Formats: sequence, structure tokens, C-alpha cells
Amino acid sequence: MSSKSFFLSWIPGACLILLASCSTPSKNLTRYEFERPQMGVPFRIVLYASSSKLAAETAESAFQIISDLNMIFSDYEASSETSKLSAQSGSGKSMTASPEMLLLLEKSLALSKKSGGAFDLTVGPLVGVWKKARREKKLPSKSTIEETLTRVGWDKIQLDRKQGAVRLVATGMKLDFGGIAKGYAADEALKSIRRAGMSRALVAAAGDIALGEPPPGAKGWKIELDAGNGGKTFLSLRNCGLSTSGDLFQFLEIDGKRYSHIIDPRNGQALEQSSTATVIAPTATEADSLATTFSVLGPDHSSILTSKHRAIEVRFLIKQGEKTAVKVSSGFMKYYHTHEQSLARSAPGGWKILE
Ligand code: AMP
Ligand code: MG
Repeated sequence: MSSKSFFLSWIPGACLILLASCSTPSKNLTRYEFERPQMGVPFRIVLYASSSKLAAETAESAFQIISDLNMIFSDYEASSETSKLSAQSGSGKSMTASPEMLLLLEKSLALSKKSGGAFDLTVGPLVGVWKKARREKKLPSKSTIEETLTRVGWDKIQLDRKQGAVRLVATGMKLDFGGIAKGYAADEALKSIRRAGMSRALVAAAGDIALGEPPPGAKGWKIELDAGNGGKTFLSLRNCGLSTSGDLFQFLEIDGKRYSHIIDPRNGQALEQSSTATVIAPTATEADSLATTFSVLGPDHSSILTSKHRAIEVRFLIKQGEKTAVKVSSGFMKYYHTHEQSLARSAPGGWKILE
């Protein structure tokens, strides 16, 4: 068996760069890579296939699935299902929803409930207010936030499961799937690649990745994370989702305070602390939505979600002046690559500050 190294460079919340590929793979499988802008980010597909034709056709179908999902979940496209639903808010009318929409509504509402409203799809109007603030470099007034909050709240989504219909109760509501749809699209694209018989594949939507079986001869996909101290940390992952959320790159700065693109729907404020949350979960849908949720909850309140769901692990990078603190859930380090695994075994349970 030839030695192989598959490096994926992970820059939190921003982009994913393939550093190096492999030598000739075993069992006549060749590595193929495709990239296309979708949902406002570069979507990347890496797969191992027996021919370039099969690889290209499979990737094309997967990109088509992502594009179809965009036409359901985009809040930019006026003709998307999400935009149509938001346009009907407050009218008293219900809209029949697609199975995909119903599924993500169910998953999102369950997470809203579990997280006490930290994750909330109805955050759209607040996202608009804070986008304007970023553009104008001026904080929104208290009264603007208060008025906007009357159009926000997951309890204002009424789901009729039997009829497969949904109604938004208040006028001027706007659903925003930005914290979950990319992970879901990555999962669905990966599923379609698996259905075509290629299990050794990965789909990455910027910071949200769905990982299948690893490359031939490898135990996992090697993912590079920013270690928070200028260095790098490597993860070895397979058959799971990985996602990073946070504001180390995207923020508004006023009077020395940084305001994130992630909003706390409970008080209408953009997050102030400069941090990223990296989540490993069974699927990219969960990793994506939980990374956004953990960013809102912060390390001190996130263990409610990790301890109840053993397969969920999170790492926080928190900027504290010139330094960056790293906090990890008890099982996160078992995914560290090679020599770092010995450190994981000796790690105590609970949160651990590494530096
Ligand atoms: P992510 O980059 O996955 O953390 O998602 C951030 C995006 O999700 C933002 O750009 C908003 O569109 C949306 N969002 C912001 N705050 C929340 C929240 N508290 N719950 C759900 N979605 C949010
Ligand atoms: Mg997210």
C-alpha cells in the first residue's frame, strides 16, 4: 500500500484550500475534484471514481441537487420557496411546503426549542437590520431592535405536519436558512454521490463539510484547522459533518467593539465576542446548525447540547486581547490526527483550556 496524504486546509468560516493530493490510489480509483459557486460560496466536491466520465457526471448531478435546494432555501432569490413563504407572512394563509422545506423546518424548530431560542430561522429581519448597520457603520437604535423583535420568534412559525403546510404568523417575517442550508445541501450532495456508488467522497460548502468514507488507504480525511496561535491542528474524520461558525473574519467594528453576522435572536443583538465554534456531528446539517447555535450560546452554555448528544463535539477559539483561548468538549481531541491522539486519551472530561 502506498503512503498517501490528503490535506484539507480549513480556515474557519472563510474558505477551504486543498493543500496536497495523493499518489496513485489503490483499486483503480482516481481522485477527482470539482468546484462551483453555489449558495453564495464555492462548493467543492472531492471523490474517488473509476473513470473521469463517471466522476464528472456524478459531480454534475450533485451540483444540480445543490442548485435545486438553493431554489428552495435562498432568501435572495425572489422566486424561492423561502421568499414566497416570507412574502405571505401575516396574511393568515398557509403554504404547502416541499418535503425538503418541511424537514429543515422540523430540524430547526427542534433545535430552537433545545437551545432556548439561540438558533432561530426567523432571525431574517434582524439580519437585515445588522447588514444595514455594517453598511452604514452605525449601530441600530434600541427602538429599531425592539420593533424588529416583534417579527422574530420561532413560535411564530406554525407547522401543520398532517397537511404539510406552514404559516408565518406575524407580518414582515423573513425566514433565513443561512445557518443550516449549506450543511444540508452538502449532506444531500454527498448522499447522491454515494447512491452513484462512490462512497469515498467529500462535499465542502466553505465552512460546512459533509465527509464520506476516507480516501483509499487512509483512516480519515485529514482536515487542517487554525490552532488559534498561528499554528495548525489536524483532524482525521470520516462519515460525519464538520462546520465552523464565527466572526473572526466577518464583523462590524464600532468604538473598538466587534459585531458578528451571527445574531442572538433572544435580544436582537449581534454577537460581540470574537470567537469561532467548530463542530463535529453525525451530519453536516447538524454540524452547520449547531456551530451557529454554539456561537450564540458560548462555551459556558453549550455543554447542554454536547452532553445530551454524545456524537457531537465542539471546539471554541476565543479572542482575548492579543491571545486566543481554545476550549474543547471532552471528546473533540479524539479526532486529532496522529501524535495528537495520545494527548486526547489523557485529557480529562469536560471543557479544557489548552492555552
Ligand atoms: P453560519 O455561518 O452557519 O454560522 O450562519 C450564519 C448565518 O445564519 C447568518 O449569516 C444568518 O443568515 C443566519 N443566522 C444568524 N444568526 C442566527 C441565529 N441565531 N440562528 C439561526 N440563523 C442565524
Ligand atoms: Mg451554521
